[in-house]
Amino acid sequence: MMKRREVLNSAAIATATAATLASCSQTTKSPTVQTGLPNIRWRMATSWPKSLGTFIGAETVAKRVAEMTNGRFQITPFAAGELVPGLQVLDAVQAGTVECGHTSSYYYIGKSPALAFATAVPFGLNAQQQYAWLYQGGGLEAIHKIYTNFNVISFPAGSTGAQMGGWFKKEIQSLADLKGLKMRIPGLGGEVMSRLGVNVQVLPGGEVYLALDRGAIDAAEWVGPYDDEKLGLNKAAKFYYYPGWWEPGPTLDVLVNLNAWKRLPKEYQEILKTATVDANMNMLNEYDTLNGQALTRLLAGGTKLVPYSQDIMQAAQKISFELFEENASKDVAFKQVYEQWKAFRQQIFAWNRVNELSYANFVTRE
Ligand code: CA
Repeated sequence: MMKRREVLNSAAIATATAATLASCSQTTKSPTVQTGLPNIRWRMATSWPKSLGTFIGAETVAKRVAEMTNGRFQITPFAAGELVPGLQVLDAVQAGTVECGHTSSYYYIGKSPALAFATAVPFGLNAQQQYAWLYQGGGLEAIHKIYTNFNVISFPAGSTGAQMGGWFKKEIQSLADLKGLKMRIPGLGGEVMSRLGVNVQVLPGGEVYLALDRGAIDAAEWVGPYDDEKLGLNKAAKFYYYPGWWEPGPTLDVLVNLNAWKRLPKEYQEILKTATVDANMNMLNEYDTLNGQALTRLLAGGTKLVPYSQDIMQAAQKISFELFEENASKDVAFKQVYEQWKAFRQQIFAWNRVNELSYANFVTRE
């Protein structure tokens, strides 16, 4: 299958090249600008079921690339499991099984713990702060250094905004209630929960509802009201906790195999980068618009909204920073990213306390 596709791709490029050569010989006769850019077809493995907002992020990238190249560069996103399992996107991109993928980098902290920063870490940055760190604060350069070891280059491509704290079948009133609970939660948030006594499971989105509904797990976090409603999590558990302290502004990533990236014409590289920036804007806007509407529906349908208790929040924050320090002492890449990130976080929190938070606290008070 792959071989045949490669042959087809080569044939498409050869055809385009022949057309280019033909058109070059005509340029003296015609003022029409011939770009000479090849037809390229890529496959994009994703970690998402097709129904969710996260998949729309992948589709946005593909759609914008096609639009900006007049259809010459086509990327086809595939749902989790169609090409590779949802949590193996990095492996497939690294191996070149697919040219690119759309996923959460923190699914791969087992390979390099510092990849958590590319997505979100507990008590980290909100979406706006995360983008500032990635694009202007040195974050993306730091993440690229890590991904180079996997023969991959990454581009932020979508954010869900601040997430929710997950669905629980029973109320969690104190730290003691977390002990022994089986919960779907990935990333470093999962490691913090594990230290709080939770039996942590990492399942792709398509498997969360069944596991929760059948009682294989007692709790599950996914994204927020819109996606969680689509997955039906409100039908499997009643208590909906907030805030999602482990994911205050998670960024998704397009991962591109470095060999495939280097083969792209420079114009296509710039177009693909621009398309991922579009996806960042579109996805965040979409979630910010749809989540409030979905929450209203969920509450009308019997969902009970519950805040995490202060003792859980405080214990989780303390453990999170202990975990960061431990990882930093064991892993050079983590230490480099963490220290740079920590300084950025401190500065932007100090600034946002003055401008954003003082304003938000005033206008949202009851
Ligand atoms: Ca989540």
